[in-house]
Amino acid sequence: MIITEAKLRQVVTRMLGRAGSSAYEAEVVTDHLVRANLTGHDSHGVGMLPTYMRNLNKGILKPNQHPELAKDSGNIMMYDGLEGYGQVQAKEAMAGAIARAKESNLVLMTLRNSHHIGRIGTYGEMAIEAGLISIHFVNVVDHGPTVAPYGGTQARFVTNPVCIAIPGTSQTKAILLDMATSKIALGKARVAKNKGVPVPDNSVIDAEGLPTNNPNVLFEEPQGSLLPFGDYKGTGLALVCEILAGALSGGGTIQPGNKRRGGTTNNMFTVIVKPDALVDYSYLNYEIDELVRYVKDTPAQLETGPVRIAGEPERLAFAERSQAGISLEQSTWEQIIEAAQSIGFAASEIEQILAP
Ligand code: NAD
Repeated sequence: MIITEAKLRQVVTRMLGRAGSSAYEAEVVTDHLVRANLTGHDSHGVGMLPTYMRNLNKGILKPNQHPELAKDSGNIMMYDGLEGYGQVQAKEAMAGAIARAKESNLVLMTLRNSHHIGRIGTYGEMAIEAGLISIHFVNVVDHGPTVAPYGGTQARFVTNPVCIAIPGTSQTKAILLDMATSKIALGKARVAKNKGVPVPDNSVIDAEGLPTNNPNVLFEEPQGSLLPFGDYKGTGLALVCEILAGALSGGGTIQPGNKRRGGTTNNMFTVIVKPDALVDYSYLNYEIDELVRYVKDTPAQLETGPVRIAGEPERLAFAERSQAGISLEQSTWEQIIEAAQSIGFAASEIEQILAP
């Protein structure tokens, strides 16, 4: 089904409000999820709501929390997300760190113990808007592993994302590299399963460690695994995400001595830099403009071309989906309705909102 952005926002805001969120929280979470769909990342869009409602019903997602600044030593800010909606915890922690970085040029911020913070690019976009560079390493805990380390047949990590955001210039759009360390995000496999389509080659192995294109192996026992991107390089990055985001935030790594309640908890390690503390903008912007022009100025490969800069596919998807509406496959929609019902939000109320 195709649903307009405005109607989808209404459904999600009302659902979160019914699930106990304040109007503010419902709006922040809705905005994040709908923008994830608009930027082409359905894996981190409204299709996450069934997981959120399940965790809320289990008591491992707590509405209306604000991050607590557990340690503040000037350039180092350590927040605790108190198991609240990650979209609120990470947004507020970033806002605090951005304000500090504007004064002090450099901030290291950690966030632990937050429910799923969603699309990490959202926080890179906040830095870009403030004219700052941000670097984020994230791990995922309280959840069974889903990604096999290079060379292994059993999962040992979740999809530990990395994001680097660099503001644009008057000629060049912002650069937003925002990626899972697995070949594909788990949510993308969920979307493929719901659509009944295969996952790309070399992205998944079954429980025996054999390559497969069947996304179902990730959601049944014995469980298969996602593969890392870039072979051992992806595994290396996933490992350092565990230590930077998990151990240094105090939130913990995925090692099996830590709790696994079947939730989705994110920890994040973020560095924010004010670029003109290092070089003049005239120099930096000239280098960015000339570099990006050079990188893009090559004839396109038939299969993968033309050359795109990180962040460009999301901008293209946003422009298209804001006009055409958001397409949700039937089974994702059915799961959302079922999740709504689990918190007492009737399907008939949703139909009323959707009525022309
Ligand atoms: P992806 O593979 O679609 O894109 C990764 C990066 O590559 C993006 O920066 C994108 O702009 C860039 N890109 C895509 N196509 C390109 C091309 N042709 N040329 C140049 N650059 C290109 O993203 P993903 O790895 O599937 O991750 C999806 C989302 O999932 C991200 O927003 C990530 O933050 C999120 N995520 C979150 C969690 C969590 O625990 N909260 C875990 C994993 C992933």
